[in-house]
Amino acid sequence: MNNDFFKFGIIGNPLLHSISPTIQRSALLSANLNGRYEKFEVSKEDIPRQIEFFKDNDFSGFNVTIPHKLEILKYLDETDETAKKIGAVNTVKITDDKKLVGYNTDIYGFYGSLKEESISNASIIGCGGAALAVVFGLEILGCKKLDIYARNTQKAQLFVKNIKLKTKIQLNVKPLETLDNLENTDILINATPLGTKGINEEKSPVDGNIFASAQKSMIVYDLVYNPLETIFLKAGKNCGLKTTNGLDMLILQGAKAFEIWTGTYPNVEKMKIAATNELI
Ligand code: NAP
Repeated sequence: MNNDFFKFGIIGNPLLHSISPTIQRSALLSANLNGRYEKFEVSKEDIPRQIEFFKDNDFSGFNVTIPHKLEILKYLDETDETAKKIGAVNTVKITDDKKLVGYNTDIYGFYGSLKEESISNASIIGCGGAALAVVFGLEILGCKKLDIYARNTQKAQLFVKNIKLKTKIQLNVKPLETLDNLENTDILINATPLGTKGINEEKSPVDGNIFASAQKSMIVYDLVYNPLETIFLKAGKNCGLKTTNGLDMLILQGAKAFEIWTGTYPNVEKMKIAATNELI
């Protein structure tokens, strides 16, 4: 494989608003490496053909996003321990002998964005793919109790049943409409698409008034990064709480993927500036 010019990509559908090309091009620049990163909007049925294209054209690897993070598993030759544990892959490395190795760097992105924080009691809204990475990330951060608020508690119970954690975290499933007090929570995480630019932009998973019940040290964390400040984050900020959007998680998962493909950890500050310029 010609490693003087790196080729990477992302598969998913839709990809119109993905800023991964921006952050990965910035990573290439900061690492002083030549290469390109492209979007490939493919359906589930097109994945095998896309993989052949990557192999035939000497790609070093690719990212996988909604809705293919589970589907990709069946095409991999190897899956690393973290990705196996979580059952989802967002980064694939293509080795010199054209083998596909799957990783999950979303977990790293999440805990990396919070590693200075001490979190014992957490609350999360939503129980989809991103929530799963958050649960494993919270385990690494030392969380002891996690309340999972969902609109569909049956689905959330199944989500909890399938989680195999190393440590003992008390996992409680609760109906979303019962989330009305935050006094015992160190962090409240939105892991739903509510607040995202487009049809969901004016929506929040909670009534902003509940932030008044939080301790002043509580973190309001939104996995959504576009817009950079959602209604959910604005409401938290208005109550004097610390807020974090999903951009750091996105950048850090991308930086880890870049390191897996190239062996070089890129400059995350430069990646963040490039991403922010695209989002504002
Ligand atoms: P997903 O698998 O589709 O899960 C979405 C979750 O949100 C589900 O539990 C869903 O509930 C819930 N939900 C959707 N609409 C809702 C509503 N109106 N009220 C209450 N709950 C609702 O999606 P995902 O992959 O987990 O992604 C979730 C969000 O995280 C997206 O905005 C995504 O862009 C973001 N994300 C960010 C990063 C990052 O690096 N910052 C990484 C991954 C994902 P049901 O199960 O009942 O449908």
